[in-house]
Amino acid sequence: MTSVVQRIRVGRPVFSVEFMPPRDHADEQRLWNAIRELEGLDPAFVSVTYGAGGSSRDRTIRTTGRVARETTLVPMAHLTAVDHSVAELRNVIGWYAALGIRNILALRGDPPGDPNGEWVAHPDGLNYANELVRLVRDLGDFCVGVAAFPYGHSRSADMDSDTDNLIRKFDAGADFAIAQLFFEPEDFLRLRDRVAARGCEAPLLPGIMPITTRKTLAKTIELSGAQAPSRIVDLLDPHTDPKGFRAAGIDLATEVSERLLAEGVQGLHFYTFNRSKATKEVVSRLNLVPART
Ligand code: FAD
Repeated sequence: MTSVVQRIRVGRPVFSVEFMPPRDHADEQRLWNAIRELEGLDPAFVSVTYGAGGSSRDRTIRTTGRVARETTLVPMAHLTAVDHSVAELRNVIGWYAALGIRNILALRGDPPGDPNGEWVAHPDGLNYANELVRLVRDLGDFCVGVAAFPYGHSRSADMDSDTDNLIRKFDAGADFAIAQLFFEPEDFLRLRDRVAARGCEAPLLPGIMPITTRKTLAKTIELSGAQAPSRIVDLLDPHTDPKGFRAAGIDLATEVSERLLAEGVQGLHFYTFNRSKATKEVVSRLNLVPART
C-alpha cells in the first residue's frame, strides 16, 4: 500500500481530502457520492476522522476499510487517544492494519462533550499525541501524520511551546503534519517557518475549507481558534445573497491556495464535510495535476 508521504513527495503539488464517518444511511449516500466524484480527480490520499463515541469509531474503521477495498484511493485513518486504554488503541491499530490501512493520523483528541473542558486521560491510556505516534510506529510499518496549529493549540502556553510540541511529535516518528484551518496564507507560512527554524523538513500540509456559507465561516472561526481578519470579513460580508457569498468564498479559497502553491507547499488538504462540489471547483481552478506515483 502506498504511503501518504510517497503520494505527497511526487515533485508537483497535490491535494488531499478529509471526510467524516457517516451518521446514517442518507449521510452514507452523500459521503460515497462525494468520494466517487473526487476519486476521478485522483487526490493524493483521503482521510476519515475519528469521533468521540463507540459507534462513530466503528464507522471510521468501516469507511476507511471500504475506501481501501473498493476504490483506487489511498486511505488514511484518524485515531485519537480519547477514552481508550493502550490495549484498545493497539486493537484499533490492528484493525486498521488488517484492513490494509497503512496511514494513520495520530491525535490526542479533545475531552468528549466540551472540547475546552478538562483533559482526563484514560487510566490505562495516553496523555499526548506524541505517545500515540510512538505506539503506532512500534506496532508496524505505518506512515504517521499529526496535527499542527497555525495560531497555536488552545492549550499551549505560547507559540514556542506549541512548536516544541509539534517537533516532539516528529521526534516520536511522525512523517508529516496537517494544519488546522487558518484565514490568511501568511498564518500558515509563519507556522512553516517556525518548524523550518527548528531544522525540521517534514511535509506540512495546509488545511483548506472553502468558506461557501456563513455557517462555514463560523466553523472556520471555531476550528481555527481565531477571528476572521477584516480583509476577509470585508470580502464576504457584502454578499447578502447565498450565491454571491459562495462565489466570493470559492474565489478566496482559490486565491489562498494559489499563494500557498506559489510558496512551494507540497499539497493542500481539503476539509470537505462530506461534500465534493466546492473542493472540486477550487482544485479544478488550480489545475492540480493528478498525483499518480
Ligand atoms: P497534542 O499534540 O497531544 O497536543 C495537545 C496539547 O497538549 C497542546 O496544547 C500541546 O502543546 C500540549 N502538549 C502536548 N504534549 C505535551 C507534553 N509532553 N507536555 C506538556 N504539554 C504537551 N479530533 C478528533 O477527535 N478526531 C479527529 O479525527 C480529528 N482530526 C483532526 C485533524 C486535523 C488535521 C487537526 C488539525 C485536528 C484534528 N482533531 C481531531 C482535533 C485534535 O484532536 C484536537 O485539536 C486536540 O485538542 C489536539 O490534538 P493533538 O493531536 O494536536 O494533541
